[in-house]
Amino acid sequence: MTTLTNTQVLELKSYINGKWVTADNTVDIINPATQQVIAIAPRMTKNQTEQAITAARTAFDNGEWAKTTAQERAAILHKIANKIEESFEEFVTLETMDNGKVYGEAEGDIQDTIACFRYYAGIILHPDGETYPVPDDVQAMVVKEPVGVAGLIVPWNFPLLMSAWKIAPALAAGNTIVYKPAEITPVTAFKLFEIIDEVGLPEGVANMVLGQGSIIGQTISESNDVDMVSFTGSTEVGRGIMRAAAGNLKKISLELGGKSPNIIFADADFETAVDYGLFGIFVGSGQVCSSGSRILVQDTIYDDYVKRYVERAEKIKVGPGLAKDSHMGAIVSEAQMNSILGYIEKGKEEGATLLTGGHRLTENGLDEGFFLAPTVFADVTQDMTIVREEIFGPVVTIQKFSTEEEAVRLANDTDYGLAGAVFSNDGAKALRVIKQVRAGITWVNDYHPTYVEAPWGGYKQSGIGRSLGKYSLEEFQEVKQINIRLNVAPVGWFPQ
Ligand code: NAP
Ligand code: MG
Repeated sequence: MTTLTNTQVLELKSYINGKWVTADNTVDIINPATQQVIAIAPRMTKNQTEQAITAARTAFDNGEWAKTTAQERAAILHKIANKIEESFEEFVTLETMDNGKVYGEAEGDIQDTIACFRYYAGIILHPDGETYPVPDDVQAMVVKEPVGVAGLIVPWNFPLLMSAWKIAPALAAGNTIVYKPAEITPVTAFKLFEIIDEVGLPEGVANMVLGQGSIIGQTISESNDVDMVSFTGSTEVGRGIMRAAAGNLKKISLELGGKSPNIIFADADFETAVDYGLFGIFVGSGQVCSSGSRILVQDTIYDDYVKRYVERAEKIKVGPGLAKDSHMGAIVSEAQMNSILGYIEKGKEEGATLLTGGHRLTENGLDEGFFLAPTVFADVTQDMTIVREEIFGPVVTIQKFSTEEEAVRLANDTDYGLAGAVFSNDGAKALRVIKQVRAGITWVNDYHPTYVEAPWGGYKQSGIGRSLGKYSLEEFQEVKQINIRLNVAPVGWFPQ
């Protein structure tokens, strides 16, 4: 594998039909903590994207990959997992430099990536077909088959992990893939494909096309040769993909944005609730789809909670991901930073009280990169932009409620339904409330942990479908019934 040193700039390539390919246009990939150029990536064209789709179509239709045994596909996924593990530190370092997150977060991402490949290598060996007793001397059975050509489109916040969540189940199920990482974070994707190139997949089974969503993502979503699109990203782009997919009614799976409530009752363990309140939003600098960006606190502890929360938020050390003492890393890009700063201005204009943060950090060399202070707003109302829209940055609102009913009403007063949490030491109340939160990913006395076994996805405008677990495998499969007449004879319905 090629390795990156501090001064070296990686030259990335796309991978189409088993070959490395470049493009006439390129784009610089930067470390958002330093603005240092770490790689140069090709911007593939519509035509090259169509070549990748044709390669995947041919590789699927010739049946070589779809007819491999589950054991053979599992062995390949294990090889991929093992090779990522052998280069673990390199992957972690590159993810840190590419995305801006802190090293410890990137370690978790790469560990989860490895676990994801191993999980799908395991689960594909446990098929769960069905047989039915039916009338008429017929043996009925249900079998699962690959969907075909799967387009996989991922965002920049967990570059490799979001890719693994799609690539592992798609390949395990026997699909061929056309995969597009986010343009600004393609480095670990390229590293993964160096591995994929080594593990012996038939030509055209796995294709990676680097470049812009408006060209590559759009071409994949519109193509009549693509059978399914699995997308993770913003609700706005997800809506466009749904429209584009209508052409050939391709299957879609959409993992979209969120504005998730974190409900703190007065009877919660106070320090635990403050701690997870911080963890819920400031990990990943708030650039996490499931972030607990709306903290709802019961009125009797509200003032104490806010005071302690701000005190703790101000102790968070913001800095480069590779510095071992940084608690919170950079914002992924200048554009994302400016978008977050725009929301902060809007919050102030609309009358929210800014308790801490709210600005870019530039001291001690941080002006080299894109860093924001952990930002806390109080005195917010439901109609404010910062309460309604996904900011996707280190900005939290803390709201007051008095009754259980009010907590549930505020929690659900959102277009989104991705995640949510409840903190309380009253077990029955915690369960009663979390069951009423209209969201797909929830926690009690906890925030953020994600397990590969469990379904990941949202209600309402947070998406369609579920990633991870058996659910993701099923998304990448078609379901077929086969009816076999055991007594071969004419039906005799029409006259002889
Ligand atoms: P985004 O702008 O929607 O981009 C996501 C991906 O879609 C990128 O690869 C992007 O390409 C591509 N894309 C852009 N325009 C497209 C088009 N017209 N057709 C097809 N693909 C297109 O989202 P983002 O800003 O990268 O990521 C942040 C969003 O992702 C947030 O809303 C967050 O909540 C969501 N997210 C959700 C989950 C979840 O599991 N629910 C997980 C992570 C993130 P470019 O490279 O050109 O941008
Ligand atoms: Mg984007």
